[in-house]
Amino acid sequence: MKKLIIANWKMNPQSLREAEDIFKGIKKGVLKLKKIDVVLCPPFVYLSKIKDSIKKNSIKLGAQNFFHEEKGSWTGEISIKMIKNIGVGFVILGHSETKKLGETNKKINTKVKLTLKNKLTPILCVGEDKRDEEGEYFSVLEEQLLEALNGVGPSFSSKVIIAYEPIWAIGEAAKKMISSEELLQTIIFIKKILADKYGAKSLGKIRILYGGSVNSLNAEDLIKNTSIDGFLVGRDSLIPEHFNKICKIVEETIL
Ligand code: PEP
Repeated sequence: MKKLIIANWKMNPQSLREAEDIFKGIKKGVLKLKKIDVVLCPPFVYLSKIKDSIKKNSIKLGAQNFFHEEKGSWTGEISIKMIKNIGVGFVILGHSETKKLGETNKKINTKVKLTLKNKLTPILCVGEDKRDEEGEYFSVLEEQLLEALNGVGPSFSSKVIIAYEPIWAIGEAAKKMISSEELLQTIIFIKKILADKYGAKSLGKIRILYGGSVNSLNAEDLIKNTSIDGFLVGRDSLIPEHFNKICKIVEETIL
């Protein structure tokens, strides 16, 4: 399995022109890389335009969410088919910022199933908001994973990408960075949940990424000293030099 780096632009940038500039900067760096996959997740309004500038087999495109109903009168919402028909292959689901707006594990589960039904790849985010001494966060993670994957059978498991994103380590409000030891321990736990649900053989097929304040200074430690399959990058995905450096670091760790 190739390593994977996902860029989550969130509600940035504020104009198409800026979006195209960031895209061009990233494209320049990423096209030189052979051993990793890169998925860009810009806001909905830039997807079509950026899609037109992507050559086959280079950067892939993802959406940041969609609405949990397939069609109907839902003012302001975007359906999975709309995304699919643009040619987008991936979609971020269950991000902590959408959960903050009231998204439940049940709704995330509906979206995971709709994504798979439409043959797109869900990038399922899970992560605790805090770490407690007693290890209560393990149950939080288990619940998020099992509820979001409820009814997703073994034949679909390899189509799901898991992004472990501890809320305490994400974005400008991050309390601290995760250490590679903490990350390794959590990834082992996530793998155990997946192995119990889908069998040990599934582990080689499900990609597990890490997201939360990844930058060019911590990327090497996190990728070398854990068993993650790549990163989901927020802030640093808006600065092409930074994002490209992270991608290069990951590419260089692959033998
Ligand atoms: C995110 O919110 O998905 C994220 C990983 O953000 P950042 O890299 O800015 O912490």
